[in-house]
Amino acid sequence: MKLSKKINIILLPVILITFSFSAIYFYYSQKEQVFSAISSVIKDDLKHLSEEMIVSVNEADFLIRVLLDSKDSYNFIDEFHIKEKKYYLEKTFIRNIKNMDFNGNKLVSFGLLDSNHSEVFNLNLKDPFSKMKINETSENNLVDLIVKIKNKKINYLNSVIYEYQKSSNGHHLIKITRVFSPDSFISDTFYSYNHRLYVALMTVELKGLDEGLAKFTDELKENFSIDIYPRDESRKISSDSEVEILSKLKSGYTFLLSHDLWNIELLVHNVYFDKMYEPIRNWLLSLVFYITLVTFFILKWLISKQIINPVVILSNQLKLPRDGLRLNLKKQTGNNEVSVLTNKYIDLIMELDNIATHDSLTGLSNRGQFKSKLKSYLDKSIKNNVKCAIISFDLNNFKSVNDNWGHQAGDSVLKDFSDQLVESYASLNWDKIGVSEFELARISGDEFSIALSGIKESSALITLSEKILSLLEDGFSYNNNILNIGVSVGIAIFPDDADDARKLIHCADVAMYSAKNDKNNKNNNYKFYSVELEFEKKRYEMIASNLRDSLRLNEFKLVYMPIIDCKTNEICGAEALLRATSENLQSYGPAEFIPVAENSGIIKDIDYWVLEESIKQLSDWIEKYNFDGILAINFSSWQFKNPCFVKKVMYLIEKYNVPPTCIELEITETYFVSGESRSLKMLHELNQLGIKISLDDFGTGFTAFSQLIDYPINTLKIDRMFVNDIMKNSKKDRLLVDMIVEIAKIYELDVVAEGIETTEQFEYMKKIGCQKVQGFLFSKPVSKDNFINLWKNQNYK
Ligand code: C2E
Ligand code: MG
Ligand code: MG
Repeated sequence: MKLSKKINIILLPVILITFSFSAIYFYYSQKEQVFSAISSVIKDDLKHLSEEMIVSVNEADFLIRVLLDSKDSYNFIDEFHIKEKKYYLEKTFIRNIKNMDFNGNKLVSFGLLDSNHSEVFNLNLKDPFSKMKINETSENNLVDLIVKIKNKKINYLNSVIYEYQKSSNGHHLIKITRVFSPDSFISDTFYSYNHRLYVALMTVELKGLDEGLAKFTDELKENFSIDIYPRDESRKISSDSEVEILSKLKSGYTFLLSHDLWNIELLVHNVYFDKMYEPIRNWLLSLVFYITLVTFFILKWLISKQIINPVVILSNQLKLPRDGLRLNLKKQTGNNEVSVLTNKYIDLIMELDNIATHDSLTGLSNRGQFKSKLKSYLDKSIKNNVKCAIISFDLNNFKSVNDNWGHQAGDSVLKDFSDQLVESYASLNWDKIGVSEFELARISGDEFSIALSGIKESSALITLSEKILSLLEDGFSYNNNILNIGVSVGIAIFPDDADDARKLIHCADVAMYSAKNDKNNKNNNYKFYSVELEFEKKRYEMIASNLRDSLRLNEFKLVYMPIIDCKTNEICGAEALLRATSENLQSYGPAEFIPVAENSGIIKDIDYWVLEESIKQLSDWIEKYNFDGILAINFSSWQFKNPCFVKKVMYLIEKYNVPPTCIELEITETYFVSGESRSLKMLHELNQLGIKISLDDFGTGFTAFSQLIDYPINTLKIDRMFVNDIMKNSKKDRLLVDMIVEIAKIYELDVVAEGIETTEQFEYMKKIGCQKVQGFLFSKPVSKDNFINLWKNQNYK
């Protein structure tokens, strides 16, 4: 899943949940505030209603006091027992009562009782025939009051009892019971015990509720119900009243106002509250919606800008095709964490890219990078119709550096060589040479390649190849030693030699291989690819594979070439020469297959086979025929690297019980010049065993005559090439042969002349003092049986 999508999935719910919870919290706190605001309005309204009722009660009470303090009242009480006056007094009293302005309150009944509770006057406007009633509690209270007054326990008279009642038809009634005396004013605070006591009872229907109730209707609409009912516990009246909220019912909240005289219970339905909360809810919902969206987009934008975009830019850069096969990542500016991280990542990628594309030892491009670069050169070459090429080269004899000096020395040689090459190429004027681009790479081990683009002339390739050769012209200097390493260079050109990169690399390898195996110039050589070289390589591969088969199937044999002593003209020994008997190799002589065996490493086992076979044969001849000649056995320079070789020779000598002095080991001079200390040590060890050492094909190498004294050599074998020409008026060759023989005399070495085909040659060699000869004049290499017959018969005596 993409990072941006992931962020959407994470961010949106997180923001939504956060804001939703905040909104819920806010909603509930708002709800409480709204509820307390509504509650306080309702409480105030309830109090207001109650206060209006109190005002009505006070008004009614005020009127009764005015009435009772009036003259007519006194007259009526003083004189109502006078029969003649009673009717008139009652009439006046009733008129006065009816004329009283109750200010909206409605008088229901008015009556007077004496101190014995006997009715003195009774007026009931609703029921004229009703008897005046005083309920039990009121009566008890009244009696109690009168007793207290009479006993002078109370010396004031302003005593009153209020009772709120609700009539059966729902009217709100207030019953006022007041003790008074016609002998003093109600407002008088002093009361004398001899004053007469009367009780006035008045029932008034309270006004002023409608207005209060209308308020609720206005505010709460249909969503409430109200009930006012009397309280029995107290008879005092005060304006103090408390409103409490009873527990929430399912249907709504109950507000209870408790007054001394009445309880007012208001049930406000939930619908009302819900309606009040609804705007907040809607407002919060839309707020959460919009704020979530806005926050989401702002955060997304910020995250995209600060985090996702740099990562996307980086990943797009990584997707981009490489610029010239190198990653071209642009670092980001700014020092925020993302930029720092991105830049560190870029550094890491570049480093990894460098590791992936470069060789760690030399710092040159590696094989992968080389191939990519080569492909890009080929593309350019096709596009621009120019040539490109590869120069492949590997170091000759490099293995001996590793073997003799260790791998650290090998690494150091490779590094120094590549540094020198880079330096040498850096100093070139490439425009002048006619090459537009190049890539130098280490392919593996001691193998290097250069891909070149835009080549104008093939002479440029020769210049560049010679530059490589020049670095190793005189070997390679390491720790004040000259290492005998050279270089073989192969060159292939696109599109002349191949039409794709793979084939081109192959062609350069073929040319390089051919340069390496060039008999004439083995150590430092370059070659251009040609189809012939391809055949040559195929031939090489065929020979190598057949040699392996021959070793496995024992398809080899030895032939023996007699060696003649010039003094006695007798066979004094033989040289064992290898022949392959397999059908496939029959047409190839050792001159062709031995170099292949040497280059492919098969020679090691071949040498062992020859050594054992020839020593076995020598032992057989000695045993059967008392053979006392010397058997010369060829061995390859490979054995100088084989620490077991001397032991192997010793083992075979012991095994076949032959005198070591009858064995002469031949080593070709060209290999011998590379004589490192190890080779010398080996030759000394062999020499100490009594084995003779001869330097084969002498004259083809570069052994300084002065060096001969240091080497444990017994014989020099003059190469056939020089002997061939001595009688063809080739003074130069004759001089060389003469010199070899003279020098041998000085160093007390035997000389064997190879390739004696004519008597003249033989005579000449004898004349100059050569000790031994071998050649077709005497015998071609023959089978073991033929040789021993020749030796027995001594034809040449
Ligand atoms: P080499 O050791 O110099 O052997 C002498 C070569 O010269 C032999 O060739 C021999 O047949 C040839 N030869 C000698 N006298 C004459 C002559 O008068 N006329 C002509 N035309 N040729 C003559 P061959 O047997 O073909 O061997 C070639 C090379 O192969 C040898 O040169 C030696 O370097 C190598 N070789 C042969 N056998 C072995 C072996 O068993 N082990 C190793 N390591 N190398 C061997
Ligand atoms: Mg030889
Ligand atoms: Mg030879």
